[in-house]
Amino acid sequence: MAVLTQAQLLQGWEGGAGQGPVARAVALAAAAGGHSFAEAGALPLGARDALLVGLRAACFRGDVECLADCPGCGEELEVTVPLSDLRRPAEGVDGAGEGEVCVRGRLVRFRALTSRDVLAVAPGGADSPDARRRLVSRCVLAVDGEAVEGGALDGEGLVRAGLTDEVLAAVAAALPSVDPRADIRLDLTCALCGHAWAAPFDVPAHVWADVNACARGLLADVHALARAYGWREDDILALSAARRRFYLEAIGT
Ligand SMILES: [Zn+2]
Repeated sequence: MAVLTQAQLLQGWEGGAGQGPVARAVALAAAAGGHSFAEAGALPLGARDALLVGLRAACFRGDVECLADCPGCGEELEVTVPLSDLRRPAEGVDGAGEGEVCVRGRLVRFRALTSRDVLAVAPGGADSPDARRRLVSRCVLAVDGEAVEGGALDGEGLVRAGLTDEVLAAVAAALPSVDPRADIRLDLTCALCGHAWAAPFDVPAHVWADVNACARGLLADVHALARAYGWREDDILALSAARRRFYLEAIGT
């Protein structure tokens, strides 16, 4: 992807500021991919996160630094994640991000989860069994070739349509097969106790942290220069980094 201008980066930040983590991820993906919020919200989670990794690579230097707690001994590890580890190709996935599972002789066609699904059901996280059930049911497209709108059905309607807990559990288990980039895990080994585990990596949280820090720094620069010279925000953001640094030094910032 092309490097976002600082104005575009600020636009993505502005769209996500004050929102929950899912809406923030969608706002950044929209800015990164040149999509509307609705378009970015309809992307499979893995495609959304791939846009965020692209944004991270295009706009910021260096690998991602993060911390992870060892489940073996509780030690906090400093982890460096090369961006190349996050840029996993969507291998073995068809363009539509759809798949099928067969449960007790019934063929269930489903699609990958999107941010829109998550925002509709559980923007704070699908922790309860009911939220999980409703989330997975939104991904079901058809049972035995007959179209099903799982998201519109209540508990009884789901069972009547053939979407029992067993079927939904099978769909949930198969979701990574149609969207492997949605669940990035890091293979870590604790230097202290030798414990090895696969730690989940939250792409949106890390990219948001970088964007948030950058946006706040940019706005602080705008604030200082606008106050000193009376310049407009657009004009300050259009300055090259070298010129901006010169003026900031000149006013003693
Ligand atoms: Zn350990």
